[in-house]
Amino acid sequence: MTKFKLEYIWLDGYTPVPNLRGKTLIKEYDSFPTLEDLPDWGFDGSSTQQADGSNSDCVLKPIRVFVDPARKNGALVLCEVMNPDGTPHASNKRATILDDDGTWFGFEQEYFFYKDGRPLGFPEHGYPEPQGKYYTGVGFKQVGSIARQIVEEHLDLCLECGINHEGINAEVAKGQWEFQIFGKGSKKAADEMWMARYLLERLTEKYGVDIEYHCKPLGDTDWNGSGMHANFSTEYLRTVGGQDYFEALMKAFEENLEDHIAVYGPDNHMRLTGKHETAPWNKFSYGVADRGASVRVPHSFIKNGYKGYLEDRRPNSQGDPYQIASQILKTVASVPTAASAAA
Ligand code: ADP
Ligand code: MN
Ligand code: MN
Ligand code: MN
Repeated sequence: MTKFKLEYIWLDGYTPVPNLRGKTLIKEYDSFPTLEDLPDWGFDGSSTQQADGSNSDCVLKPIRVFVDPARKNGALVLCEVMNPDGTPHASNKRATILDDDGTWFGFEQEYFFYKDGRPLGFPEHGYPEPQGKYYTGVGFKQVGSIARQIVEEHLDLCLECGINHEGINAEVAKGQWEFQIFGKGSKKAADEMWMARYLLERLTEKYGVDIEYHCKPLGDTDWNGSGMHANFSTEYLRTVGGQDYFEALMKAFEENLEDHIAVYGPDNHMRLTGKHETAPWNKFSYGVADRGASVRVPHSFIKNGYKGYLEDRRPNSQGDPYQIASQILKTVASVPTAASAAA
């Protein structure tokens, strides 16, 4: 028997952006535990804005388990928060989202490294060289000394624990980076995004650097904000598609603009201004290879006869990938396909 360190991880009750929380349970197993081997556990919800002090017990229900590459005999146990009666807690958005294995999501998480209240690499007073050469840049002048070290270590952690990490790049602003997570199904993709965020947060502890996820940390200046572009494709879009269907889909996106913006992350009006590779938040648009549109249509999509994936560029860096994926699925499901129209 081996004593395993099980890190139970959950989202707390803070709004509009939940925090990641975790605590460790030691338990003996013959070999690395499967989901079925892991018991429900509890925590004090009155300390996480999930319960009153008088009735504070919340339940942690394991839903995914990963090897913890940073800990000897460690497991990362992603959980949903439940009420004692077994119903999903109000803060548990995952429990009720739309999910479909045939719909694939690729999230591009942008974020800033922050130290001493400013982006990593910013001087104490004033600004560094304007943005231009930082995106995909190389060299101390562009990316500094420890950012890439953190990014690389984070990448290795994600790959070692089996997260479907797809890539990294230095972003447009100084101190800003991106990683991409891909998954088949809302829950799979979003679970892995939350786990990747957890691993990044935990990693920064030893570097004394913070992650700033706000979508426009430098406000109304000539510095880019942070998004979490949601690339998506349904089975129908990948295999049938077509111009008529595509146009009907975009019309549905336009009609449901408010429902999308409502779950695309807080303060998005600060970021979706029409500048800095964004479209204004209150006007829906789409365009081929257009990074100033709400939805970017890749060249390959048109070349393949309106088939493939689309990129909704509006979700931001603090958005909840569960709710973002679910809203996209909801709008897609409202549009009849040729097959459903014929039925
Ligand atoms: P860019 O920075 O040019 O917008 P990235 O390479 O950063 O693009 O991200 C593209 C994303 O698209 C990746 O996360 C990838 O997983 C995702 N993607 C590629 N093909 C598909 C597909 N068929 N369905 C859903 N997502 C996809
Ligand atoms: Mn990208
Ligand atoms: Mn980007
Ligand atoms: Mn993108």
